[in-house]
Amino acid sequence: MLDLFSLSREELHRHLDELGDFHRYVADQVFDWVYRKHANSFADMTNISLSNRNRLAAVFSLELPSVADLQTSIDGTVKLLIELQDGRKVETVHIPELHRATLCVSTQVGCKLGCRFCRTGKMGFVRHLGTSEIVAQVVLARRMFGDKENVTNVVFMGMGEPLDNDDHLLAALAILGDDRGLAQSPRRTTVSTAGLVPKLDRLLERPTIGIAVSLNATRDDLRGWLMPVNRTYPLAVLLEALRSFPLPKRRRFTIEYILFAGLNDEPKHARELVTLLHGIPAKVNLIPYNENGIEGLSAPTEDRVQAFFEALAERGLQVNVRKRRGADIAAACGQLATVGTKTAGR
Ligand code: SF4
Repeated sequence: MLDLFSLSREELHRHLDELGDFHRYVADQVFDWVYRKHANSFADMTNISLSNRNRLAAVFSLELPSVADLQTSIDGTVKLLIELQDGRKVETVHIPELHRATLCVSTQVGCKLGCRFCRTGKMGFVRHLGTSEIVAQVVLARRMFGDKENVTNVVFMGMGEPLDNDDHLLAALAILGDDRGLAQSPRRTTVSTAGLVPKLDRLLERPTIGIAVSLNATRDDLRGWLMPVNRTYPLAVLLEALRSFPLPKRRRFTIEYILFAGLNDEPKHARELVTLLHGIPAKVNLIPYNENGIEGLSAPTEDRVQAFFEALAERGLQVNVRKRRGADIAAACGQLATVGTKTAGR
């Protein structure tokens, strides 16, 4: 059986063409039923002839991964534990706010990059998610939380380094953005990377997608300690890649900077960050570290966060402090991890 959630509308159309006797608009109809009307079976697709529904059901699977567990934070954040067909699990987090709701999507089971502050990194790498497993997280969330107004933004900041799984990521972005399907706005979609420099150019295939870069330090020694990827692509290489990246007009990179007490949260670090970002269209997201039991790392004080914020803002940088969301259910940044059948990191 072919997994329908792995196919773009054009690919589905080509398959139908090969099967023969399907009008071109049947692929549009199937996308409408699956992604907009949330049909669970071809039998529901009543504007397609009965014989064609039966032919479709014999070739394509509409099976989605299951939700093995669901935890709700006191702040309304919901963490879904998604069980894949091979029994592996990933986490997807829904973060409702006043005027938007963000879905944080995973791209790998585990991760190769081993960032010191990240529970997923501690798992090691298990495997990439397939295209359909990435798409399915958004489909499940849209079905559970209601449609577009309840999943307005999609961010690839869950488990895994998205650019390490670039082929499946880009195929999933094409499916998610299809205006006959989920029509997820690329301007409300962000891919976050730890800095896999050679893969950045793949995002030119989706030029209006938001790009976030997890920076977290202003010096190579500290960044290399926090993020081993820095030993391969040090700050100078990463920042030069951002400087020369042909970002569309009026677009900016989001620079994520996790503040750790005593490591990178002093005013001098803020000044260094301003210098490093010179010439790069960027806004900065400050993320006070969510303590998750990792030795040597602790959360900054509110005063330090405020002082860092002000030091950037008064030098003209657009800066935002990310609210802590879902920390009580280990759904906050850096806390996602799955081990066997249980959720770790609490
Ligand atoms: S922060 Fe991202 S890139 Fe680093 S280990 Fe965690 S999932 Fe991987």
